[in-house]
Amino acid sequence: MTFTTRFAPSPTGPLHLGHAYSALLAHDMARARGGRFLLRIDDLDQSRARPEWEAQILDDLTWLGLRWDGPVRRQSDCLEDYRAALARLWEMGLCFACRCTRRDIAEAASAPQEGAAGGRPEFGPDGRIYPGTCRGRGLAADGDSTCTRLDIAAAAARALPAQFTETGPDHAGRHALDRDRLIAEVGDVVLARRGMGAAYHLAVVIDDAASGVSHVIRGADLFEATQIHVLLQALLGLKQPEYHHHALIRDAAGKRLAKRDDARAIARYRADGASPEDIRRMVGL
Ligand code: GLU
Repeated sequence: MTFTTRFAPSPTGPLHLGHAYSALLAHDMARARGGRFLLRIDDLDQSRARPEWEAQILDDLTWLGLRWDGPVRRQSDCLEDYRAALARLWEMGLCFACRCTRRDIAEAASAPQEGAAGGRPEFGPDGRIYPGTCRGRGLAADGDSTCTRLDIAAAAARALPAQFTETGPDHAGRHALDRDRLIAEVGDVVLARRGMGAAYHLAVVIDDAASGVSHVIRGADLFEATQIHVLLQALLGLKQPEYHHHALIRDAAGKRLAKRDDARAIARYRADGASPEDIRRMVGL
């Protein structure tokens, strides 16, 4: 299989140094292996995505010297694919509709009988771990529900993949999946939100499979989310890619760069006269 990887920015802010590192690394790895480098625009959240950001991101990537293979895939064009996958998971009996607001979840989690008892973490790769309020209530996925969730215990019982392969620096090796850990440390993740066809985890799994991505290269902040993705791949009968989570670019104080760190925007460095080689040097490539 041809080595195929992708860079998948969300057009909700400028491309900054951390994104540039991710894109350059994925591009270089693909080229070194005679493989394909794809570009995807993760614009699922239409309330935050802006065409101006997308245009700026494409311009910055081109300026950095990156060329991608084939057409750009946009998540907003693929809502039908996500809906079909979601319908399959419903048919398998692995989904439930949820009416909880963020505040409901925070309150239930801080109630004495729920809480982070027994060393259970409060947050997982999908945010605050869902306390299970709507699971088993049999609610309809109608206008009253806020989202559709995966019943993680049922999903893990149905198709738990044995492991996934990681080649990134911090976690290199094979990682076994564990049902109890998924339940305690991940919980019933959101698959689709009201007004948005799908949520991040379901969309990326469908996207990567549809594009034939063989190697997912992305930041180490998404490492814990990978167990959700390989579980969804197993449930939907999709091929599991190999994973490479790279180190995150930090600022001088050691803090992770955030989207709002506009001082680290590539556009800012360009305006200040930096060259693409300067950017490569700054990120250690
Ligand atoms: N769009 C996601 C992000 O910017 C990346 C998705 C992924 O690599 O799975 O964080």
